[in-house]
Amino acid sequence: MKIHEYQAKELFAEYGIPTPAQILARTPEEAEAAARSLGGGCVVKAQIHAGGRGKAGGVKLAKTPEEARAAAAAMLGKPLVTKQSGPAGSLVRKVLVTACADIEKEFYLSLTMDMERACPVIVASAAGGTEIEELAKTDPGAIARIPVAPETGFRPYHGYEAARALGLPEAQKKPLTAILSGLYRLFTEKDCSLAEINPLVLTKDGRLLALDAKVNFDDNGLFRHPELAELRDPGEEDPDEARAKEHGLSYVSLGGDIGCLVNGAGLAMATLDMIKALGGEPANFLDVGGSATAGKVTAAFEIILSSPSVKAILVNIFGGIMKCDIIAEGIVEAAKAVSIRVPLVVRLQGTHAQAGRQILAGSGLAIIPADGFREAVEKAVAASKGACAE
Ligand code: GDP
Ligand code: MN
Repeated sequence: MKIHEYQAKELFAEYGIPTPAQILARTPEEAEAAARSLGGGCVVKAQIHAGGRGKAGGVKLAKTPEEARAAAAAMLGKPLVTKQSGPAGSLVRKVLVTACADIEKEFYLSLTMDMERACPVIVASAAGGTEIEELAKTDPGAIARIPVAPETGFRPYHGYEAARALGLPEAQKKPLTAILSGLYRLFTEKDCSLAEINPLVLTKDGRLLALDAKVNFDDNGLFRHPELAELRDPGEEDPDEARAKEHGLSYVSLGGDIGCLVNGAGLAMATLDMIKALGGEPANFLDVGGSATAGKVTAAFEIILSSPSVKAILVNIFGGIMKCDIIAEGIVEAAKAVSIRVPLVVRLQGTHAQAGRQILAGSGLAIIPADGFREAVEKAVAASKGACAE
């Protein structure tokens, strides 16, 4: 789960991480009043879940309350398209007005999970402000990774090592360690998958400040944190992913044109790999799970078909606990409820596969059957490109 910058900075404040004074505004008038109470000069920042706002016009320095009002008016009620938002952008409903910092230098600092070492890792770079993904490609040596063993937790020496990696002056060692200590507590106590400060800045008067804040929570830990539920902003979530969640389906939008309905996360990922290997583009990841009912399958089809870019659907089922005849019935039910307007390739293998194929064959639906994995994907890729798959 993602949250907004203003919410992440409120959490930072709870954990003793210094941030500039801030006021949330929903209208240009509120932004003007906020700027006035912050003393005039300020920064107006679009609150959307995607990063990269600075380069996209979503972060504006304002010298006067009037300028803050104009900056807010230019952002509010309009979609902001950033490198991370997707081509449609995200609608800006709120702006954050913050006190303006005098920047001496910008740094990158975050905590995330190191999946290989199975522990939290501090990521630090003196090249702050830029996107870390970009930096990882162009200059990976400029990024320090400092693992923190869960047995010991965060210790001051982690902070000193990070201060060295950032090239901070001696006087900043202790303040940086305090910031990292708070960030580590936040990261572990709230089950975060990412707690990022980009940029962390050294101000001209020698203070460290978190100018931006990004906190992502591990969805698997959310049940332990009822207090985080109110931070959710449904307006920022992918509507298809939200709908899938309601039906207990594991779904991720991907932007290609082959809709996928698969059981089991491993098979689903293998299916995406095979589609890419054979020159296609998956529209989604969808694991219907081991206990799919006809209703779940119908919901899955509805979600896949709601995307106008889907040009073919591939159903790839390996029946284990899940029986193929149940899936076949689900497909027939779904076809009654929603009109399947694109070619549908179906591969059923495993438990009750024969019975499932018979149900489909007797349904009168225009289904392109496939036995082999590769064959099924080849047919789906061909269909997505408008070719007639026999
Ligand atoms: P992002 O582009 O979505 O990551 O938004 P950020 O909050 O990181 O802001 C982008 C950039 O705007 C920062 O890297 C800074 O260079 C600049 N910026 C943000 N806040 C301030 C501020 O208070 N003072 C100054 N001078 N620049 C700021
Ligand atoms: Mn940033």
